[in-house]
Amino acid sequence: MTNYLYQEQNWQSQMSDLITQPKELLDLLDLSSDQLLSGALLASETFKLRVPRAFAEKIEKGNSLDPLLLQVLPHHLELEDHEGFITDPLGEEEANQQPGVLHKYKSRFLLTLTGACAVHCRYCFRRHFPYQENLPKNDDWINIANYIESKPEINEVILSGGDPLTISNRKLQLWIERLESIKQLKYVRIHSRVPVVIPSRVDDEFISILKNSRLRIILVIHSNHALELDEYTCSKLNGLVENKITLLNQAVLLKGVNDSANILANLSYKLFDIGVMPYYLHVLDKVKGAHHFDLEPDTINQIYTELLATLPGYLVPKLVREIAGEKNKTPLLGTETF
Ligand code: SF4
Repeated sequence: MTNYLYQEQNWQSQMSDLITQPKELLDLLDLSSDQLLSGALLASETFKLRVPRAFAEKIEKGNSLDPLLLQVLPHHLELEDHEGFITDPLGEEEANQQPGVLHKYKSRFLLTLTGACAVHCRYCFRRHFPYQENLPKNDDWINIANYIESKPEINEVILSGGDPLTISNRKLQLWIERLESIKQLKYVRIHSRVPVVIPSRVDDEFISILKNSRLRIILVIHSNHALELDEYTCSKLNGLVENKITLLNQAVLLKGVNDSANILANLSYKLFDIGVMPYYLHVLDKVKGAHHFDLEPDTINQIYTELLATLPGYLVPKLVREIAGEKNKTPLLGTETF
């Protein structure tokens, strides 16, 4: 698609007008395969289809193997069971200390403010996470504050989800102000895919909230392929950089989507051109339903070795796997871990 109708549309309208029906998405993309449709209908019963129109506009029409489409279109292969692929591969339900608080690492913890995402990524390791039982209510704040103060080693809170940028600016500001009131905190990290899938989310009010906080705010976006970063998306991200917000990117290495050193190198260069530093390249978490995105360890090693030889060191994202119960993400190259 080259005619962008939705990119600049107000982000709240886009959130309330997501594509949720496989047939609508396939029709929009001129894909008429009955096999694709029946697989998508079946797989979306377990994990619903959810695609912003601004993201759909970036997908090439008529191309059933488009790397952006593969990330969002439910597939019949999701219904297969595979050994080792489970509903909670990172043991997050165990790390859930109290509603909203997922504490796995020493100096920082995840605060999940919402279970909603703007897009449903088919490989998501939280696709089975019981958010509704774990979201903080307004009066849970006191308990969260007490939790932080009882652990002086915590200096950073990571707003995660779901996707924290699906909540309103007003609510986001409220949570940031609450965190600002705790003296020991220095950093707030926001993990979000929304600036990539609905770039107009990066509005002036949002930029103002980030730049006026006493906390150092780091926005970690999630982009897996340079085709996600069209001109408008880049201009919005660059607006954040110009306002001195630190931007990092995390990607997931996915079979059929970005499984070549060339694609990953293009992504790193594109990110760097707009001021976003490549941060992590995650090996797929073994979540039930995502086996078809998995790559063999030898292939991963080969791709990453080639990436190291292609890019200057500062543009090479760290290849990591998250292992349930470990005190940090596990770096992979040169280890036996994967
Ligand atoms: S946006 Fe993030 S949390 Fe939401 S489905 Fe995608 S990967 Fe999962």
